[in-house]
Amino acid sequence: MSETSQRGTALVTGGSRGIGRAIAEKLATEGYRVAVTGRDREKLAEVSASIPGALAINADVASAEDTRAAIRETESQLGPVDVLVNNAGIGGDESGPRPFVEMDPQTWWRVQETNVLGPALYTHALLPGMLGRGRGVIINIGSYIAIRPQAAVTAYASSKAALARFSDCLAAELHGTGVQVFCISPGLVLTDMTRDLDFVKDIPKSEFVSPEVIADRVCRLGSGGFGALSGLFLHVSDDLDELLARAQTLHDEGLYTLRLSGVDGRIP
Ligand code: NAP
Repeated sequence: MSETSQRGTALVTGGSRGIGRAIAEKLATEGYRVAVTGRDREKLAEVSASIPGALAINADVASAEDTRAAIRETESQLGPVDVLVNNAGIGGDESGPRPFVEMDPQTWWRVQETNVLGPALYTHALLPGMLGRGRGVIINIGSYIAIRPQAAVTAYASSKAALARFSDCLAAELHGTGVQVFCISPGLVLTDMTRDLDFVKDIPKSEFVSPEVIADRVCRLGSGGFGALSGLFLHVSDDLDELLARAQTLHDEGLYTLRLSGVDGRIP
């Protein structure tokens, strides 16, 4: 275990590239001992080489066996996990968004396994330790597609809506335990997931969020100082300090959460 690390241990699923990689790099810079998971061994080797002391573990996030092994390795080498970032995710198959009727149901389900079962497995395995220590932060990487119905994204949108609801229900369960749960939407980030999508090609580069910005927000949430916002559905563009100052109002008024509204206002 590195003696220079002051901040504890962070585990980032899907930390081998894209947003997860930026988060892992930022957490390491901030002084965390960092473990990342992924399936591509070459990408994992790059992480080991570029982040001093990082543990890069070959593990499929949807496999319970891989999850147990990844957590065993992380905790034995880096100590108990203080910050879990459930980042690993897929949008569908390589062909990009497609109408539901054209999708193989197994591909559809694979999206749920990766984006929902994965976070549930990691969270379930790490929660007892966090509860025992009376502290921990779980950050789920969501998407605004969860709240914006549109065509050709049934698998991805369903999975991210499930992840958002998982996050706020879990936060309610964990209220008062010292364990915080967030779901944060990174905005549109140019990564392997988005680069070749048709609609992305028409968007000016300046409109993309940089992975470093989402990494910064995740690090701030990981610090433990935003517990009053636990359970809220956040966006990368939110001013976390401003939200923190108004946290009680946000909870009281049911803001920053998935809700149904009818013609007469919110449906209870
Ligand atoms: P990305 O560049 O495609 O990276 C995805 C990461 O997840 C990779 O490290 C990948 O590694 C890993 N991964 C995928 N399936 C996995 C599995 N079964 N087991 C373990 N690791 C797996 O995607 P990204 O854009 O950085 O997305 C990261 C997260 O942000 C996702 O949850 C995504 O839904 C969310 N998000 C992204 C955007 C955006 O604009 N990019 C917007 C909203 C939300 P391997 O393939 O090697 O396993």
